[in-house]
Amino acid sequence: MSFNALVVRKGDDGKTSAAVEQVELDQLPAGEVVVAVEYSTVNYKDGLCIGPGGGLVRDYPHVPGIDLAGTVESSEDDRYKPGDKVVLTGWRVGENRWGGYAQKARVKADHLVPLPDGLTTRQAMAVGTAGFTAMLAVMALEDHGLEPSKGEVLVTGAAGGVGSVATAILAKRGYQVAGVTGRPETADYLKDLGATKIVAREEINETVKRPLEAETWAGCVDAVGGAMLARVLGQMQYGASVAAVGLAGGAGLPATVIPFLLRGVNLLGIDSVMQPYDNRLRAWKRIAEDLPMDKLEAMVQPATLADLPKLGADILGGQVRGRVVVDTN
Ligand code: NDP
Repeated sequence: MSFNALVVRKGDDGKTSAAVEQVELDQLPAGEVVVAVEYSTVNYKDGLCIGPGGGLVRDYPHVPGIDLAGTVESSEDDRYKPGDKVVLTGWRVGENRWGGYAQKARVKADHLVPLPDGLTTRQAMAVGTAGFTAMLAVMALEDHGLEPSKGEVLVTGAAGGVGSVATAILAKRGYQVAGVTGRPETADYLKDLGATKIVAREEINETVKRPLEAETWAGCVDAVGGAMLARVLGQMQYGASVAAVGLAGGAGLPATVIPFLLRGVNLLGIDSVMQPYDNRLRAWKRIAEDLPMDKLEAMVQPATLADLPKLGADILGGQVRGRVVVDTN
């Protein structure tokens, strides 16, 4: 029985190309659970895996898709039975294993979580790795003492996937949110999600000139890294924390250690891929509670498997607004 999948192939010239093809069940990787995939999504990493690979994909042909949500079709693991709704993010699925850009996926039971109460499979994919990571970042900041009374929270890469979800969650929890964007045309969108201030990317994207500036931000969810993160470190309030999530602006960190030494600033690393099961459940529960579903819907751009080659290029170019939901059927 064959089904549709987005297959990336690598030619003799080393170039990759992606197209929807028919795939057989026995081509899927080993695993205990077969999932009838209903929705997937597009994250920055998916852009890499649909396109040149970014060092993430070793073997071709490859089916990308780091996130999936759907219904269990068959299971050799006691934790899941046919008909269960499930979600998968991370664990390098869609990178070193075939992923969610298909109508069926065979996965390891350890990689699944049950669909959180209160969410549909479509909403879970509107959240996806980007939104799950945004929630992990907010949880880390709050675990380190952030609360709304402390002042404004900065979100960098605000109109992207991580940034949009972080903005909506923080606003719902009562924070003043300043969103950094390089796309001024997204200002109304960000304000609708709950941003109280828009900061132009150029204002904050310069190399550090002074290691310490005015103590401005009570916390930061940073999806950009690079020079912007370096600059933000010097603008944090005394004892405040930055959750480092992404590298959309670069993997380097041209900073000094002065903000750590003189202001007790914390740089918190956020990894969504290898998160332990218990913390995954905690984050998904918090998403269902703290992310307003009308705001989530406002972020969504619907897509099909056939749209993915273009969307992959768009997200690498910083051109996707909010979250893409891919209907695999
Ligand atoms: P998106 O492309 O949706 O968002 C990234 C945003 O960053 C863009 O929309 C843009 O926002 C901004 N941006 C892009 N290029 C630059 C640049 N050169 N300088 C400054 N800002 C820039 O991606 P995601 O939200 O899915 O992911 C964001 C980052 O987080 C990626 O680096 C991704 O790899 C990482 N990530 C990490 C995870 C983890 O586990 N740690 C999990 C998920 C994502 P705007 O237009 O508003 O300026």
